[in-house]
Amino acid sequence: MREGLMMDDYPLSLTAIATRAELYAPRRPVTFRRPDGSVGRLTLGECAERAHRLAGALRAAGIGPGDPVATLMWNQPEHLEAYFALPAMGALIHTLNPRLHPDELSFIVNDAEDRAIIVDGSLLDVFESFSDARAFSPVIVVHHEGDDDLPEGYVDYEQFIADAEPLAWPEPHERAAAAICYTSGTTGRPKGVVYSHRALVLHSIVGGLPDANDLCSQDVILPVVPMFHANAWGLIYSAALLGAGLALPGPKLDAVSVLDLMQEARVTRSAGVPTVWMAVQEALDAEPDRWDLSALSGLLVGGSAVPPSLLRGMDRHGLTIVQGWGMTETSPLASVCRLPAELADADPETQIAYRARQGTSLPMIELRARSDDGQLIPWDDTAMGELEVRGPWVAKAYLGGAGAEKFTDDGWFCTGDIVTLNAEGNIRICDRSKDLVKSGGEWISSVDLENLLMSHEDVAEAAVIAIPDEKWGERPLAVVVPREGSAPDPESLREHLAAQYAKWQIPERFEFVDEIPRTATGKFKKTTLREQFVDTAV
Ligand code: ADP
Repeated sequence: MREGLMMDDYPLSLTAIATRAELYAPRRPVTFRRPDGSVGRLTLGECAERAHRLAGALRAAGIGPGDPVATLMWNQPEHLEAYFALPAMGALIHTLNPRLHPDELSFIVNDAEDRAIIVDGSLLDVFESFSDARAFSPVIVVHHEGDDDLPEGYVDYEQFIADAEPLAWPEPHERAAAAICYTSGTTGRPKGVVYSHRALVLHSIVGGLPDANDLCSQDVILPVVPMFHANAWGLIYSAALLGAGLALPGPKLDAVSVLDLMQEARVTRSAGVPTVWMAVQEALDAEPDRWDLSALSGLLVGGSAVPPSLLRGMDRHGLTIVQGWGMTETSPLASVCRLPAELADADPETQIAYRARQGTSLPMIELRARSDDGQLIPWDDTAMGELEVRGPWVAKAYLGGAGAEKFTDDGWFCTGDIVTLNAEGNIRICDRSKDLVKSGGEWISSVDLENLLMSHEDVAEAAVIAIPDEKWGERPLAVVVPREGSAPDPESLREHLAAQYAKWQIPERFEFVDEIPRTATGKFKKTTLREQFVDTAV
């Protein structure tokens, strides 16, 4: 090989991203809301400076290169400081999801071999539910005004960093590990994904592109998606890289709190799972003039399928949703759905149908899908297969070699998502493989049924699960949350579905509930629904 003569050894590191924020965007705002509802303000420069002191204090406490340090925090400035400090000092940031079961958290902190932990004061009870599992040292607590005194053995975050010698960032290797995040266990035991600096840097750059999240230095980004959920979809590092401001909402993610903060911080971009935006839409429908959202221009929505009814509903408020798809294993952003130029003048319903797709892969991400018999499916939008993915920010293995069957011999990762691909390779997710309903040998997509049900005027939310059936193998069962003040009857819902579905695809059974249980990342928890309804199946 004749080599190029460029500085190819320059490391693509998060250190460079943290330094960039510090040097070029020190005055950009970091607005945050505390658990008690109070709003505070810092800047990217102040957070970066505090990150140097946090790193110095951690180094003095014995944390060195390659050591994982857990965080149990909301989207808050101290979490941003840990996002900067830990990878930049050569350690690993391991974000913990406080909504997981204590047994799962115990398993995760031991599997990752976490050395120390930083905890928000409002999460001390969660911490104490698994703190016996491991000897963390130190345990650093972000203590809020008015909270009880810290118990013995815990260190106050502000005291910890107050007099610390700021650590100058060492130059890391781009392949060095920078962060750990566990898959949330929607499908079996949580597995650790270990991100490299290089992967997260490339992900942050590409994630900012106009056809991806479309971010720039003028933006103020409000990640509703938690910083413990797959790196907050890359928005934190993209913001630092580009010099965009941040609005960090803390624990309160109800619609009114989110909308208040959007107004207060003049937010331009936000991101989160569909259930968050369904609640926001309801609040806006009820009080369309309450909030000044004139700065807000886009919402990135993903994590589960975006129902067309939500796209339409938010369009009515002048808020454009763009759908993305990804997984913890893909850092997570792998595809984004932007309307192709050819459809710019198409009728609204054609556009909505396109925008309800999961999108085209980001540059450098390759996609393919294989049917049950192992053959690659054609890009004809009809054949269904399991999606596989490869690229520079996709995991090549899990921590400790778990889940090896998810990686193919020729270097692809099997997602477990069942898709069709259109002629441009744009993904349409039909289901997760374990959620598909197989009735009389034919597949029924629960996502499609849910979307159509949620477009019924009396339906707020709907989830479809498979229940065993003697004659057909499986049948779909629809769990429905009625819109406030309405009481839809199964017959009208069946009629609504009959407009697009064959008779055999329409559920016989409808169950009406007040709410659908959520996973730790805010998705419909179908495992719980199955437990709840399968026993009572007729
Ligand atoms: P988990 O769901 O196990 O908590 P992740 O947060 O990594 O783990 O979720 C990844 C999965 O979420 C994908 O495999 C896919 O099933 C689902 N998903 C993500 N984005 C979308 C989307 N836009 N539409 C449909 N499903 C999605």
